[in-house]
Amino acid sequence: LNILLVGSGGREHALAWKIAQSPLCGRLVAAPGNPGVEQVAELRPVKVTDVDGLVALAREIAADLVVVGPESALEVGLADELAKAGIPCFGGSALAARLETSKAFTKDFCARHGLPTAAYGVFTDAASAGAFLDTLTAPFVIKADGLAAGKGVVIAADRAEADAAVLDMLGGRFGSAGARVVIEEFMHGEEASLFAICDGQTAVLFGAAQDHKRAYDGDEGPNTGGMGTYSPPPVLTPALVDQAWRELVLPTIAGMAAEGCPYVGVLYAGLMLTEQGPKLVEYNARFGDPECQTLMLRLESDLVPLLLAAAKGELASAAPPVWREEAAICVVLAAEGYPDAPKTGGLIQGADSEFGGEAVIFHAGTARDAEGRLVASGGRVLNVCALGATLHEARDVAYAALGAVSLEGGFYRTDIGWRALSQH
Ligand code: ATP
Repeated sequence: LNILLVGSGGREHALAWKIAQSPLCGRLVAAPGNPGVEQVAELRPVKVTDVDGLVALAREIAADLVVVGPESALEVGLADELAKAGIPCFGGSALAARLETSKAFTKDFCARHGLPTAAYGVFTDAASAGAFLDTLTAPFVIKADGLAAGKGVVIAADRAEADAAVLDMLGGRFGSAGARVVIEEFMHGEEASLFAICDGQTAVLFGAAQDHKRAYDGDEGPNTGGMGTYSPPPVLTPALVDQAWRELVLPTIAGMAAEGCPYVGVLYAGLMLTEQGPKLVEYNARFGDPECQTLMLRLESDLVPLLLAAAKGELASAAPPVWREEAAICVVLAAEGYPDAPKTGGLIQGADSEFGGEAVIFHAGTARDAEGRLVASGGRVLNVCALGATLHEARDVAYAALGAVSLEGGFYRTDIGWRALSQH
């Protein structure tokens, strides 16, 4: 098969690494990819939001399958245009991707279909937002409706902070993404993520993970795209997975199909494990980054038939994924100043070494400089991942591998996995 992979982060390096191992994969082209992806794929410099350029590239290589990594490509309608061109695409239509791209859409969808989630209201003016806040108790959850790169959510400790956040968002801090604000009841519990691969009608469970959003050890510091993750998360017991599957995932797939936008691709359910059971925090329309990296390490069976079956609406007859027994972990090596002002250009050493044991390094924000040296080109630079018989073992292997890698000014968290490790 000729496969086009869209994206350039650690998630895409992990996907490329796994796809390239498939006996079904003939030619793998990535757009735009990164120096890590280049180890296993041909790179083409087409941006992830250049829909025409990507469709042309898919045609040029006679792609049998296009795999879309980031949500930004879905939001601008890449899957819709590929469908028009008759090219199978693993990734959702722009309308289906609203489950991620519009929080107001998702909350209204949950209400229409009776899905467990926090009580909420959607507002375009401060007075009605204030009246709704009067009905809630602190802490308050205020969200910009649209995509805001993880920065559009404020958990306000008191009412003054909540009012300020509403004014800030409606005042244009996030551009049109904040023209509507969603205010939610605060849910208490531990968070975990559940993944499903979907073909519009059918969904297949595709593992779970837990991540660390804050920049520094002890879950301190600013929110980031994710500083590390592990899979499977012990807190998400089989019984809870089953409950979330029945109460959230299946009704979501059925509801989207019934509403005329069948859901294709990865459905990533961000869950809060509350005393009343799992409730939805958010949906994402793609693999999590870095959650995907740990799923790819754990996946024993071939990824390609599953993605192809999802893209073609044939999941019902596809073999389910087979997972390795081991636990996987991913530690993110970030550039100095991440997430606020990451310093690019820092020299990276050791990233392409072969590691003994079960460690693998995926490239996220890396590039080659004029002399061909590997340098940081983004906030999250490398993903150091490992498998182990236990999470303890996986962690030890990953941190040992990190010791052999260096990034000028770079930093990483030393406590990835602490929640699960402290329980077992
Ligand atoms: P991401 O970048 O993770 O996709 P996002 O901008 O889409 O984030 P959400 O996932 O909706 O935003 O919220 C971010 C975080 O805020 C959640 O992971 C959770 O920790 C917290 N949060 C959001 N909604 C609630 C809620 N109703 N109750 C408690 N915590 C919440």
